[in-house]
Amino acid sequence: MKIDLHSHTLCSDGVLSPAELVARAAEKGVDALAITDHDTVAGLAAARQAINEQQLSLQLINGVEISSSWQQLEIHIVGLNVNPQCPVFLQRLATQQQARLERAEEMARRLAKNQIPDVLPAVLELANGAALTRTHFARHLVSIGKASSMNNVFKKYLGRGKIGYVPNNWVEMAEAIQWIHDAGGEAVLAHPLKYKLTTKWVKRLAEQFAAAGGDAIEVISPQQTPVQKRELWALCQLHNLTASVGSDFHQVTTWNDIGKNLYLTDDVLPVWASWPLHASANAAV
Ligand code: AMP
Ligand code: MN
Ligand code: MN
Ligand code: MN
Repeated sequence: MKIDLHSHTLCSDGVLSPAELVARAAEKGVDALAITDHDTVAGLAAARQAINEQQLSLQLINGVEISSSWQQLEIHIVGLNVNPQCPVFLQRLATQQQARLERAEEMARRLAKNQIPDVLPAVLELANGAALTRTHFARHLVSIGKASSMNNVFKKYLGRGKIGYVPNNWVEMAEAIQWIHDAGGEAVLAHPLKYKLTTKWVKRLAEQFAAAGGDAIEVISPQQTPVQKRELWALCQLHNLTASVGSDFHQVTTWNDIGKNLYLTDDVLPVWASWPLHASANAAV
């Protein structure tokens, strides 16, 4: 089984449409794929329709990636098997989208004060109705020559503390976990080593994530060493959590693709251990 439980589409900051993403996943031999766009479930219906129409042998897991706040840090919580039609959940995600819009307006004001005017209309056009992310800002700033790469634009303008950075008003981490549970899903601590925390703080984060009812940690995400994977699995064991795996696919790069390098070793208890994993599950939305 090839399983990838973290990916993005055009509905947030990925570059493929939901239909293109599931087609690529099937082509790459992925058996189960979670689409986990930032604070939205808008891509799931189109993805499921494409799977059915093209009769792809791919099981779609309804997912989301919620931006949350913990100790003034931005922590991402992936929700798996959420009900994308749950009205309360949709309302809650709408508040995050509103926070994204307000943040974008403020980011544009700050950039304008720093001699980069008129960013908001360009970013809105790029996003074309998708969740508004810093990635959209980054793409625009690269396209007008403000930085040479996506990474540099975050280093120079959009990363924490930089001139275009606006502290956020995301839902608290414990509440995001509750949102996911209320929508029938399981909560996964996404890419724990991407937050630039010391080992001590990663441990504290895992502990509080578990205490708040979290279910799994992403043990496998891109650019992690085998030692790091083992350390993350040790944290799962310590707190009785299961392990998840995800490429965090946004677009094809030399080092990342959908379903790439996601192998879990046999001693690890995966988050999907209790799931009905079979293609026919696609029939039930
Ligand atoms: P947001 O959720 O709007 O704050 O945007 C965060 C997104 O920006 C992440 O999901 C990544 O896709 C992207 N991102 C963050 N840091 C970088 C970076 N250094 N280079 C490229 N993309 C990044
Ligand atoms: Mn992203
Ligand atoms: Mn993330
Ligand atoms: Mn992601």
